Amino acid sequence: MLSNYEEMELGWFWETDAEGRIVYASEPVAAKLAGSPDGLLGRDLMSLFKSPDDADRRRTLPFQLIRRAKFEHMLAMIDMDGVEHCWSLSGNPQTDAKGNFAGYLGHGVDVTAQHQSAVESSRLATSDQLTGLANRVRMAAKLDGIMSAMRAQRRPCAVMLVNLDRFKPINDSMGHAVGDALLKQVATRLVKIVGDADKVGRIGGDEFQILLQDAHDRGSLGELATAIVEGLSQPYSINGSRCLVGTSVGIAVTPFDGGTSEEVMRNVDLALYDAKCGGGGGYRFFSTEFLKAANERRELEQDLMDALSRGEIAVHYQPVVNAATNEVSGFEALMRWNHPKRGRISPAVFIPIAEEANLIPALGEWTLRQACMDAAKWPGELRVAVNVSPIQFANENLPQIVVSALANSGLPPERLELEITESVFLGDSFETDARFAALKRLGVRLALDDFGTGYSSLGYLKTAPFDKIKIDQSFVRGTTEEGARNQAIIAAIVALANALGMETTAEGIESFDQLETMKALKVSHIQGFLYSRAVSAEELTGYIHDGKWVIKPNGPAKQRHSRHATFRKVGVIHDNHYYAAVLRNFSASGALIDGIVDVPEGTQFVVDLGEGQLAVATVRRAMNHQQGVEFEQPLVDDGTGGLCTRHRVSPAVLAAAGLTYDPSNPKNNLVAKTGDGQLSLPAFHTITEWKAAIEGGGMV
Ligand code: C2E
Ligand code: MG
Ligand code: MG
Repeated sequence: MLSNYEEMELGWFWETDAEGRIVYASEPVAAKLAGSPDGLLGRDLMSLFKSPDDADRRRTLPFQLIRRAKFEHMLAMIDMDGVEHCWSLSGNPQTDAKGNFAGYLGHGVDVTAQHQSAVESSRLATSDQLTGLANRVRMAAKLDGIMSAMRAQRRPCAVMLVNLDRFKPINDSMGHAVGDALLKQVATRLVKIVGDADKVGRIGGDEFQILLQDAHDRGSLGELATAIVEGLSQPYSINGSRCLVGTSVGIAVTPFDGGTSEEVMRNVDLALYDAKCGGGGGYRFFSTEFLKAANERRELEQDLMDALSRGEIAVHYQPVVNAATNEVSGFEALMRWNHPKRGRISPAVFIPIAEEANLIPALGEWTLRQACMDAAKWPGELRVAVNVSPIQFANENLPQIVVSALANSGLPPERLELEITESVFLGDSFETDARFAALKRLGVRLALDDFGTGYSSLGYLKTAPFDKIKIDQSFVRGTTEEGARNQAIIAAIVALANALGMETTAEGIESFDQLETMKALKVSHIQGFLYSRAVSAEELTGYIHDGKWVIKPNGPAKQRHSRHATFRKVGVIHDNHYYAAVLRNFSASGALIDGIVDVPEGTQFVVDLGEGQLAVATVRRAMNHQQGVEFEQPLVDDGTGGLCTRHRVSPAVLAAAGLTYDPSNPKNNLVAKTGDGQLSLPAFHTITEWKAAIEGGGMV
């Protein structure tokens, strides 16, 4: 029966000696594997087989054989005629008369077909149906696997989150079939850019994840992220029509940015969030500051809930001036938050928080009512403009709220202007048209705010009944910085606005050269610090008592370029000491450091830029307490327009050097262990030792 079994190739029997060499193998199998019935004799059993890729270490043949344990149904891969087969092996350890281990008697069955179908069904369960990429489940398992292997081997892994900007409106307006087709094309492009489908997964609607083992060089990661942002932002052709979508990328690298997969995922999410907040279309490396910012956002959100009832919110008013006459035509109402502990908080900070926390309806309504009441007391025809968040605009009760605010205050509708941003056009277009029509019927004016920051589609102007276009200050800036291009666009907007009977306001005018440019471009109204900042309601009444206010512009002749000098606390490590210093300015190649005295030219030290970012630098210029230093390795773009070091030194290495991270103090966060402001460094003493740690990415 056994011979029959062997001949029919239903399975094979094998036997090894105490050293693991094959002393018996069923003939048909031996012939197949080794070319002859005796071909396998004397060969090491272990060397014939290889473990499946996903095998747990304890479920591998070598592990069992070395332990001399009994094993059953162990899967092992073997190459037969160039095709990979999967065998299920079982073995029983044998002992000789003296009780010593004498080898194995075993049995094996070819289970290739079953194995393939098991692999295939688990692949299906962990695949994204639409794109065929790994899904969230598989990516999470992969990350877990990498992280546990990596901890032992001290290898880094980069995690990227790729999220499409403004995908939802495309999906909503063009239909889900188009959305699906777009996602498929995005997946294809992404795989092509990354160069390996195994590293890419789709873990949510428009969210993709990339896992890059052994990648921690922030220069190359930044380049890859840039390639992704640029590659995915090229136009798509879907069923013959053109479609555009932007992309944001967040990047975190283990173990620097988290020791567990939960931590890394939370942090890469925060990096992505920051990339999105920057308007999208870019990448961000995680920084502990994001964690601090996230905590702060949560705290502010808490405080914001009670801010109204505690009377911390006020409305201030910024004049809008007629460009030809310098006469004030109205005011923009701008929310101000006076926080009991933090002082004044900019609406640019708290409005987005209010929008996310669903606090904007209450805050917005309060501001609208307050602004109407204040404006009703103003003499003459002075108008008030109130910002309306897209969330307020989407509420079908908005027209009723406006009616009620007007009725309660007695303000005539034509003196109220509602400022609306382009993003409202991304919602349901039927609803949007209906809302515009309803508001227009009330007799209030409508202004298109922040034109030039979003889609800037002139198409909206034709369909929506605006009375005014407000050209965003970022666009205005471009007119004096980059020459003619923005000017030509503004000229076109003004021409179109005139043709459609709309006014134009240029926002954020700070200097006379900007004012002259706007006047030359025939912009009708100006708003900006050159005329006035927003003032409180009380202060305002002092200026407008006779119903008329002419402001003389006052400010710099030319726009100052926004180059901020830095004042960043850093550490300087030299010999056995850690000195606190200040970075005055820095570029990719060097920096000016303040705070250490009399350092001879040519001295090398380590600059600690925080978060494990250590840079070896050489003093090139010494001036008393300031040193001009040159970095050994140039810094790289950090995605925010700032700079960071290419490699970081891992927390473990820092700890070995007697330095520790303090996440609550992200800047300059290597904390001294010993007193008097200086630190003795037990592990690394020489620049050469530091260099080894830094250049090896600290993966020592
Ligand atoms: P916005 O509607 O574009 O308002 C104009 C912003 O530009 C104001 O910032 C104003 O102070 C600032 N600004 C005016 N002239 C100049 C200038 O010459 N130079 C510079 N650098 N800035 C200038 P603010 O008050 O910080 O408000 C920021 C944004 O917060 C506003 O942008 C608006 O989008 C939002 N916001 C403010 N109040 C409200 C509100 O009551 N409701 C809603 N939904 N959003 C509001
Ligand atoms: Mg506005
Ligand atoms: Mg604006």
